[in-house]
Amino acid sequence: MSVWIEHCQSRPKLLVVDDQPINIRVINELFRAECDMHMATNGEQAIAISKSLVPDLILLDIMMTGMDGLEVCRRLKSDPATAAIPVIFITAKVDETVEALGFELGAVDYISKPLNPSIVRARVKTHLTLKIQTDYLKGLARLDGLTGIANRRSFDERLAQAWNQACRDGGTLSLLMIDIDYFKCYNDHLGHLKGDECLRQVAQAIAQSVNRPYDMAARYGGEEFACILPDTSAHGAMNLAEQIQDCISKLAIAHPASDISQQLTLSIGVASLQPKIGSKAAELVALADEQLYQAKKNGRNQVHCPAD
Ligand code: GH3
Ligand code: MG
Ligand code: MG
Repeated sequence: MSVWIEHCQSRPKLLVVDDQPINIRVINELFRAECDMHMATNGEQAIAISKSLVPDLILLDIMMTGMDGLEVCRRLKSDPATAAIPVIFITAKVDETVEALGFELGAVDYISKPLNPSIVRARVKTHLTLKIQTDYLKGLARLDGLTGIANRRSFDERLAQAWNQACRDGGTLSLLMIDIDYFKCYNDHLGHLKGDECLRQVAQAIAQSVNRPYDMAARYGGEEFACILPDTSAHGAMNLAEQIQDCISKLAIAHPASDISQQLTLSIGVASLQPKIGSKAAELVALADEQLYQAKKNGRNQVHCPAD
């Protein structure tokens, strides 16, 4: 049963929902060696636990007093926070109409009562494996293959999200656009493999400088990086940009072909906006790009932000 562990950082979380504790106990025994087991004995409790815990799989009894399993499933699937959790129904009655309805509501499978341990283990294993592999692939799709930090796709998503949040809260959203100076010459002199290694080092330095939970450091493309800084003033964003400059300077990456100091340097454009409803995040990117252009024009190896 250890197949699913391969891509799983921690033990899979399994939620068992049944109004009869004896059924929960049976399932508990089957999986407690490999999974973190959680239980609920009614629909409301199942929904609350699903939201706070976000289990990897839910085994959901259909026939429960109060809110039945079908309604629980309907609610879980209509809430974005729980919609992706796979649900397997457990049912005593073989009723094809109910079964079809369950699939329409988004269940991935059925297990019938009385429970047959081999069948329960096989079905749970199949769906947990699928869930863990899907999570792993989703995670990979969000990371840049070379540097291991967030990629352009996650950057675009997070920026849109942060922009909408700032529109609602009236907060200030800041963005850093970061570009390595004379990187083409770096590659030309030292080769692309060294260039790749350098991109990894720079990405790590930027990612380590950005440490508030909602901040994001991403590879924007090529030798350009970006940091999304929600609820951060222009002053705060400038400070972070200076910190990144310090960090790169301390790394002292040799760049013999650079006009500047024979060390690798960055130019950083800083932009901060209080988004207005109906406006687009592209405004912030354009503003940060202009600042980056100014930093390059003024001689590179510097941070630039709009004049007050
Ligand atoms: P500037 O100071 O004006 O930014 O000059 P630059 O040479 O850094 O900028 P330019 O846009 O002319 O060149 C960017 C270089 O980045 C060219 C390209 O070979 C290199 N590059 C982009 N992506 C990668 C990559 O994944 N690996 C390596 N090794 N190099 C890359
Ligand atoms: Mg560039
Ligand atoms: Mg460059």
